[in-house]
Amino acid sequence: MDRREVNEEYNEIMKELIEERKELEALRYAPVTIICLSSCHRKKKNGGLVYGQCEKVQEKNKWSIPCDFTITVFEPNCEGFTEEQMRILIFHELLHVGIDGSDFFVRPHDLEDFKLIVNEFGTDWAEVKKQQKEPETEEKHE
Ligand SMILES: [Zn+2]
Repeated sequence: MDRREVNEEYNEIMKELIEERKELEALRYAPVTIICLSSCHRKKKNGGLVYGQCEKVQEKNKWSIPCDFTITVFEPNCEGFTEEQMRILIFHELLHVGIDGSDFFVRPHDLEDFKLIVNEFGTDWAEVKKQQKEPETEEKHE
């Protein structure tokens, strides 16, 4: 089941990140609205855990989802994350928000920008220190 609800705590982290990070400057001035959600889904992809997901809301669904993008955190996969890890995750998802004039799109992974997560925080940014990690669940994130 992939039941989702608005998470105000993540919305706050998102606002702070948009204010603080120069990489997110475009989001500061664009008329774009983003809502953070929590899901109880233990999402997996290619055998790895998916921590978060950034999705563009389709025009036809905006009557019920009043925003341009949603960022979903898959809670069971993020169990034990510190606040810092959660910030990195939300930062990562915000990098997926693409803006080109009045066009919005989800930016893919193979862009330079994503290197900065690795450069700044290391490839094991999502590793939960207190838990025994499984090798295949380390670096998968959407
Ligand atoms: Zn991603």
